[in-house]
Amino acid sequence: MKLKERLFTAFFIMILMPVILLTITACTIVSLQINSIQKSYDLEGGTVQIITNPIQILNRLTRGAYNEIKLAVLKTPEKLEDEEFIKKLNNELLNKYSFILVRKDDKFIFVGNEEKLDKIKESLQEFGKNNTDVDGGTYIGGKHPVLIKAQDFYFSDGDEGTIFVITDLNTLVPQLKTLVFQSAVSFIIILCFTAVILTLWIYRSVLRPLNRLRKGMNKIKEGDLDYSVVSDTDDEIGQLCEDFEQMRIRLKDLINSRLAYEEEIRELISNISHDLKTPLTAIKGYAEGLIDGVADTEQKQEKYLKTIMTKANDISILVDELSFYARIDCNTIPYSFKEINLNEYFNDCIEELNFDFEIKNIELVFENETEPDTSVVADAEQLKRVINNIIGNSIKYLDKDKKRGCIRIHLKDMGSFVQVEIVDNGIGIHEADLPFIFDRFYRADASRNSRKGGSGLGLAIAKKIIEDHSGRIWAESEIGKGTTVFFTLKKYEKDRTGTDN
Ligand code: ADP
Repeated sequence: MKLKERLFTAFFIMILMPVILLTITACTIVSLQINSIQKSYDLEGGTVQIITNPIQILNRLTRGAYNEIKLAVLKTPEKLEDEEFIKKLNNELLNKYSFILVRKDDKFIFVGNEEKLDKIKESLQEFGKNNTDVDGGTYIGGKHPVLIKAQDFYFSDGDEGTIFVITDLNTLVPQLKTLVFQSAVSFIIILCFTAVILTLWIYRSVLRPLNRLRKGMNKIKEGDLDYSVVSDTDDEIGQLCEDFEQMRIRLKDLINSRLAYEEEIRELISNISHDLKTPLTAIKGYAEGLIDGVADTEQKQEKYLKTIMTKANDISILVDELSFYARIDCNTIPYSFKEINLNEYFNDCIEELNFDFEIKNIELVFENETEPDTSVVADAEQLKRVINNIIGNSIKYLDKDKKRGCIRIHLKDMGSFVQVEIVDNGIGIHEADLPFIFDRFYRADASRNSRKGGSGLGLAIAKKIIEDHSGRIWAESEIGKGTTVFFTLKKYEKDRTGTDN
């Protein structure tokens, strides 16, 4: 649920839930109290009116005593002069928040509650003005509300008399008190209950993921990028957590690649300095030999000088390859892609290589399985660099134990592309080294002091060039048997309309 919907729901729950619960509780409390009031005060009818009109209840409270008075007025008025009878009635009424007043002419000859008399004296009607027929009595409001029931009669000596039954309306019946109390308590409980439920709900859906998010942010601040923030909701906060998680993963990747890059640079610098130091040390050693006169014969001097020359060449090749690799890695070498006829191109290459191969007594075989007019899209100069690097390795890593080295160039038509295979019968590469030979500075022989020389960049350069031609390069090898380096080139195709593609 979205946060907006959640807030709307929370708003409705906040309003509806207390209303529903209060209605149910109020109905239960009222019906229980009505029953109780009915039983206690012998009231008829089971309506809420009993509660909404408590005067009716208080009126009924005194009904018994008042009926007795009415009966006495009609049949035995002398009873009303009997103090015992009046006291008895008054005692009964005291429990019901009422008392009796007996007035003879203007004097009160019996006062059930002296304190109250002063407050209501003014409100009492004169003889003959009292409504003696109605059971309901007269309601007197104000600061001291009372319900007055009165019966006029004549004393045996002919004096005018009135007997009042006064009910104090300031006092609620206990059930009404309980009702008010229970309602107030229920109201508070219901409000607390609703508030707790809503708070828990909001906490679960809003605060918990927010806390997790905050924790995640603190972790990142401390440099811990492994703490993942997962939210189980699909609302705005859930989306925020998801965005945060993606940001964390991206940041982690960036930092990791940055660390890897820094490590690579460190390794690169260490490799370069090592590869430069080895021939430089040799040059220094041989030059010192020459200066110190260690090379005392002409032959020796020539040998020393030739070695210095070779090592200086090694440095020069390394520096050239390094600068070329740096440029190609930054994509600053502009390619000039052209249509190249494969047959012609490889025949030219082989012609160039043949002289060198004859001197080194290496057999060079060219097998072309493609159609003679097959062309590829390539940069001729860079493609030659790839072929030279691969063949250069085949020559470098020839097996001395074999009678004669043999290098085979094989072209295969693979449909939309051509596969070039350069096979040698050299020393081969260990299976463990094979996946890494295209990495820069990787040398399968592990020792950087290899006498074979080489920068460890040849195949990395070849890979970059082939990939820039949208091709693929890989190798297969078996120790003692030889190595095959494969690469693919996209065919140049003319579309049916005759336009070049
Ligand atoms: P290098 O300048 O050292 O030859 P390369 O990138 O050209 O660097 O080759 C990486 C490593 O792969 C070499 O050091 C060598 O151990 C191995 N390798 C490449 N080609 C061959 C091959 N034809 N036969 C045996 N090992 C090879």
